[in-house]
Amino acid sequence: MRAMDMPIIDHRGPEFQKLGKRVLEKIKTIFKTRDPVFIFPSSGTGAWEAALANLFAPGDAILMYETGQFATLWKNMAQKIGLRPEFMTSDWRGGINAAAIEQRLREDKEHRLKAVCVVHNETSTGATSRIDEVRGAIDAAGHPALLLVDTVSGLGCADYRHDEWGVDVSVSGSQKGLMLPPGISFNAVSEKALKSARASDTPKLYWSWEEMLPLNANGFFAYTPATGLLYGLDVVIDMMHEEGLDHVFARHQRHAEATRRAVAAWGLETVCLEQRCHSPVLTAALMPQGHSADQFRRIVLEHFDMSLGMGLGRLADKAFRIGHLGDINDLTLLGALSGVEMGLALSGVPAGKGGVGAAMDYLRETSV
Ligand SMILES: *Cc1c(COP(=O)(O)O)cnc(C)c1O
Repeated sequence: MRAMDMPIIDHRGPEFQKLGKRVLEKIKTIFKTRDPVFIFPSSGTGAWEAALANLFAPGDAILMYETGQFATLWKNMAQKIGLRPEFMTSDWRGGINAAAIEQRLREDKEHRLKAVCVVHNETSTGATSRIDEVRGAIDAAGHPALLLVDTVSGLGCADYRHDEWGVDVSVSGSQKGLMLPPGISFNAVSEKALKSARASDTPKLYWSWEEMLPLNANGFFAYTPATGLLYGLDVVIDMMHEEGLDHVFARHQRHAEATRRAVAAWGLETVCLEQRCHSPVLTAALMPQGHSADQFRRIVLEHFDMSLGMGLGRLADKAFRIGHLGDINDLTLLGALSGVEMGLALSGVPAGKGGVGAAMDYLRETSV
């Protein structure tokens, strides 16, 4: 916050150029890539659209995977801009089934499907998928499809490896794991994707990688950047490296495990049922039948001034979400879990009382 409390400078001047060059280079370390990373003044939704607009033309078929509400929204966007997304459906209770993707790609003998689009961390359900397995599925099928990954809420919380996993476009935003206010978003773009984009004649300007690339090379942008947020990005990347990315990821895992122990002690079910896909970013819990998640969330907000994530899409009023991402520690997490435990009791939800205790036990046992 202090880093962003700065006067805005001339975004065509030499002082900005240094900042621009620095952040465009440093952000690559977070995506674990050598590829260019484009920064847009937009929310994550803009970066979704940028990825699709640079690569595809109306009528193009792409394969998308329904991990939950965010995957559904991206699919709806693809439809609205005239693409033909084929949606592999799921029950929202786990991560991506890479074998199913491999099978579908094997059937696509004429290579009609131009891309596979998946969500790394599905924020509506609390499921994190194995992107290396999706890459493996595309390779095993010998299919030339591009791999597009939404890591809007995964980046900076769960390990992410754009280069090693052979991702063609990684989409992210500033306001989740990167701990910044909303307002900037990212596309990390492979050489293969840049080449596809150069061959595309779909009309676009604001989102165009081509317009941005030569200016970015000198630290500048094609139009007014969100300078204030770039100051913040500069510092937040340093903060993450100061802690160490592996430490950041382990901290998220540990807080996620403590949260799941609390949820289990309350006798609630997590939305994600697949053990290996539990998200380090957030935990979504189902309310017992006949109890309103939104009513419970309202009580928690009124009594304790704490906002829990709402159930989205088909989970509306059925689930609530506990975020455990970003700048939190053991005691802030326990504060949040205490609010949930007291809120459940105040709402008359039949739930066990030992959730905070179970989380405390785990945090104490694993404290260093
Ligand atoms: C938040 C989020 C988005 C959308 O980002 P906005 O910044 O709200 O436009 C997309 N995908 C996932 C997985 C998200 O968590």
